[in-house]
Parts: sequence; structure tokens; C-alpha cells
Amino acid sequence: MSNHVVILGGAYAGITAMQKLSNTPGLNITLIDQHPYHFLQTEGYELIASNTPFEDTIVSLPALCANYDNVTFKHRRIVSVDNQNKIVHLEHEELVYDTLIIALGSVTKFFNCSKNVHNYSSGAKSLRGALKLNQFFQDELYKRLESNKKSKESFNIIVGGAGLSGVEIAAGMQEFFNRYYASNSLCCAKLQIHLIASRETVLNGMHENIIKSASNRLEELGVTLHTQSRLKKIEAHTALLEDGTDINFDFMIFAGGTTTAPCLRDIALEQSPNGQFVVDAYLRAVDNSSIYIVGDAAALCDKKGRALPPTAQTARQSGKLAAQNVLRSYQNKKLKKSDLKIKGIAIALGGKYAVIDLGAVRLNGYPAYLIKKLIERFYKWPLWWKASQGFKKINTCDI
Ligand SMILES: Cc1cc2nc3c(=O)[nH]c(=O)nc-3n(C[C@H](O)[C@H](O)[C@H](O)COP(=O)(O)OP(=O)(O)OC[C@H]3O[C@@H](n4cnc5c(N)ncnc54)[C@H](O)[C@@H]3O)c2cc1C
Repeated sequence: MSNHVVILGGAYAGITAMQKLSNTPGLNITLIDQHPYHFLQTEGYELIASNTPFEDTIVSLPALCANYDNVTFKHRRIVSVDNQNKIVHLEHEELVYDTLIIALGSVTKFFNCSKNVHNYSSGAKSLRGALKLNQFFQDELYKRLESNKKSKESFNIIVGGAGLSGVEIAAGMQEFFNRYYASNSLCCAKLQIHLIASRETVLNGMHENIIKSASNRLEELGVTLHTQSRLKKIEAHTALLEDGTDINFDFMIFAGGTTTAPCLRDIALEQSPNGQFVVDAYLRAVDNSSIYIVGDAAALCDKKGRALPPTAQTARQSGKLAAQNVLRSYQNKKLKKSDLKIKGIAIALGGKYAVIDLGAVRLNGYPAYLIKKLIERFYKWPLWWKASQGFKKINTCDI
């Protein structure tokens, strides 16, 4: 019986699939990621706004995987996938699989701008991007503290994209600055965050009460909202919007669109217009039954066929279901149909303030913040505990 399951990507979707498959007799699992850690994107807003140290936003993958006898972790960059011959090409290595689970998420789509803009812009989907942004932010605050001249200069940040991540980042940074500014009685020009929303509102598609609460909070914090606006051109420190508005900026955060992980761009599998892979009701690639695609990499739908937004919760649900179906397929059992759903949404809005939509219940303010923190911790703590157990094993082996 064939038994090598290769999982590409060790984050919300990939880790959930790995844990579900682990310790199953007869299965060998290889988990591959380009980083030796899982970056908790859902806590990225805290890192960017300097509210949390970076080590609190990661989970060690070698330590986590050391808990499972049948799991091998490879810290490698995936170069491409040859789905005809069932081979994954890594840097300096090839791996043959029987079943493949693609959990590679997506990457930030950078607006087509001149090359030097990359020196003062970033996305927020990777630890590197979030750190770059945080370091820029800290550095600018420091310069304003040191230099009287610099402290009088305007300080503008553009957040391009007003979905979940853009809103969390804009609110988090603005709140941090407001607090810092007030508590240090700084005589410096205020930070101005410009949040660019292509639609009429922020958080397009969410419940109207959530949109209203979020918009009010952003306004209260002093974030400048540009609705129904699209970026037309970005040049050295100036963004031109389609309506003709010019905004000077010190740093630009791309939180608008995403696209396929580069290593999958040439794979012969059907993709949706925004670069996600089309899957069947069992989460297999429509044209290849030995490949499951989960998380942000897949065009996931609910039971009624409505597209689901890319979130950590759907990533985890889909990772779990794909793993169940891999097991069922090995046991020659009928596969389980997908029943993915958004159970609720929690959005951090700077400081100890959040909004929560659980369908029947909607909350905002401090109670919502506490629930948001609990959700984050219920995910992170068991992984940290497992990783600490695995770390002891790695250390014992090293001795
Ligand atoms: C700032 C921010 C806030 C967010 N807040 C929330 C929230 O509050 N709630 C929520 O539900 N969702 C939130 N999201 C969305 C959520 O983080 C994503 O939906 C989730 O991360 C998707 O998980 P995933 O496992 O599919 O992919 P990812 O988390 O993107 O992981 C993909 C993995 O693949 C690896 N990889 C990619 N390419 C390669 C390669 N070539 N070789 C090797 N490894 C590779 C990466 O290193 C990574 O570990 C937020 C996102 C951001 C950016």
C-alpha cells in the first residue's frame, strides 16, 4: 500500500492536517516549510503595532513535529511540483509522494510600482514583512525623539486594502501611536494612517453592525479612510488614487490582494481568477485525485457553494477535512463532503478593543477584545505546549 503523504506548508492548514494524520500506522508524513516556524498571521497586527514580541507570534515546527514518530519536518523551500510524476522539487532535493496536501497559503500581491518603493513598503503575511514594518515604525518614532527638525515632519503610512488584515493593522498602529504620543507628551507631528478601501465601506461583505462599529472606531482613532478608492500609481513616496488624490507617504503596507505562491504558478491544476485552486467537494484538486488543496491556497466554498473568505478558521477546518479524507481513502471508505463554515469573526481594532460577530451575538469593545485574545490563545497554547515537549526530545537526541 502506498503511504507517503507530503504536506506543503506548515501553518494553520498544514499543521492541522499533519496532526490529524500523525500516529496513523502505515502512514509516513513529511511536512515541508521554508521557515522553521509557523508564523501566526492572526497575531501579526500586535507585532506590527509593537504590542507583542516576535517570539510570541511563532511556533517551532521542528519541535512540534518531534512529537510524532511518523512525521518528518523538512525546513526547505519548495521550488515546484510535478503532479504528473508525483514529485516535489525542493532546493537540492526531490521528494516522491503518494498523496499531496497543498497548504501553501498565498502571497501578498504587490501593486505594480517602481522598484525602490520596495525599500519602504511591505506586506503583512510573513514574519519578515511584519518585522520590517515594525522596525520602520520604531525607527521613525526614535528619529522623532532625537531630532527636533524630524519631529515636525509629517509621518504618513498608507494601508492599501481595508479587509480584515488592513483594518486590524491600521487600527493597531494608530492606537499604539496615539498612546505613545500622549504618554510621552511628544512634541511631534502626529502619525497619519490612510486606509484605502476599494469598496464603499471597510470590511466589505461583513454584517452592517460590524462595519459600523469598525468604521466608528477607526474614525475615533483618527485613521483617514478613503472609500471607493483605488491606487492608480505609486512613485517615490507618493501614491496617486484613481480619483486624482495624491497622498505622500513614508511607508506603504500592501494588505489588499493576494496571489498564488510562486512555486505553484506553473502547476497544471485549475485555478480561479484570483489564483486560488479549484477543489471538489472532498477538497481534492478537480483534475487530480491524489492532491488535496487546503487553506488560503484553495477556492473554498460553503455547503451551498458560496465562496468563503480566506481565514485561519477555514484553513484549519479544511486541513482537518483533507486529512480525514486521506485516511478514509487509505481505508477504502467513502470520502466526507466538505461542510466548511465561518463560525464567527473577531477583529482587533487597536488597544484593548475588538468587534466580534458570532451570528446571533455581536459584541464590541473590551469584552470582544477578551474573547479575541482567548480565541488566539486556545489555538497557540496547545501548539506551544506540544512544541515544548518535542523540544525536550530534540535536545535529548542531540546530547
Ligand atoms: C494581518 C493579518 C490578520 C489576520 N487576522 C485574521 C483573523 O483575525 N482571523 C482569521 O481567521 N484570519 C485572519 N487572517 C487570515 C489568516 O491568517 C490566513 O487565512 C491564514 O494564515 C491561512 O492559513 P494557511 O495555512 O492556508 O496559509 P499561511 O498561513 O499563509 O501559511 C502558508 C505556509 O506555506 C509556507 N510556504 C509558502 N511558500 C512556500 C515555499 N515555496 N516553500 C516552502 N514553504 C512555503 C509558508 O512559509 C507558510 O508557513 C489574517 C491575516 C493577516 C495577514
